[in-house]
Amino acid sequence: RTVYLNGAYLPEEEAKVSIFDRGFVMGDAVYEVTSVLGGKILEFEGHMNRLARSLSELEMTCDLSREEWIEIHRELIARNNIDEGLVYLQISRGNAGDRDFHYPPAGTPPTVVLYTQAKTNLADDPKAKTGIKVISLPDLRWHRRDIKTVQLLYPSMAKMAAEAAGKNDAWFVEDGFVTEGSSNNTYIVKGNKIITRQLSHDILHGITRASLLKYAAEAQMEIEERPYTIAEAQAADEAFFTSASAFVMPVVEVDNVAIGAGKPGPVAARLREIYLEESLKAAI
Ligand code: PLP
Repeated sequence: RTVYLNGAYLPEEEAKVSIFDRGFVMGDAVYEVTSVLGGKILEFEGHMNRLARSLSELEMTCDLSREEWIEIHRELIARNNIDEGLVYLQISRGNAGDRDFHYPPAGTPPTVVLYTQAKTNLADDPKAKTGIKVISLPDLRWHRRDIKTVQLLYPSMAKMAAEAAGKNDAWFVEDGFVTEGSSNNTYIVKGNKIITRQLSHDILHGITRASLLKYAAEAQMEIEERPYTIAEAQAADEAFFTSASAFVMPVVEVDNVAIGAGKPGPVAARLREIYLEESLKAAI
């Protein structure tokens, strides 16, 4: 695989980052994951805009232009023959020398890494037909979940706990209400209404979420942005989550309670169809 590191395209074995890099030592890095379907990049603008916001919130800078970002994405997709897959992008605050809590001086170059992961069945995911099962867990993450940092230890622990319980994923709960999934935004459907938590520092502002809500509104679907409990989710007609790599994924069980008929419902199925169709139209 050919990867990108700080301006160079390299075989992955040759892409080396310092042990002093703040991404490695302090989790001082932000990232994005973007899907590729039919060799085209989905939601490029959304991911680049969020990346800029994450950098700015952390007072990090990276001087690559929008055109350069596109070129790197396209070059990696071409060099690695990616028809269906993901592009992972990470920017860390760079190599600061000896360990220090202070940010390194302005002008310290960030470490920029991009690589592709080939996937099959992203669009045609068999799980979209069966739905997935989740457990709830207390949300023990930090309180700036709107910044997309690489501090993913707790979500990783949550996925392991879900798997140990024989389920697929975890939904986080704070002060009695669902915040979001371990790596996705969550929704319930009651009657004709789609209910999802409103944007704040409590959740990541999903790129898929933003587009999905736009497409749902255009399709005259009713949307309510507010918090909800696990009990309300269990009593809902349907549930689902969204993310850049799973698009719209039905959730059929929460904490051992089946949702609706215990299989993917019509609203989630329709939204998945609409999302794939519309985001492919806008792919570049
Ligand atoms: N929430 C969290 C915590 C995530 O990690 C992610 C994606 O990685 C999402 C939500 C969904 O965001 P997006 O649709 O931009 O992938």
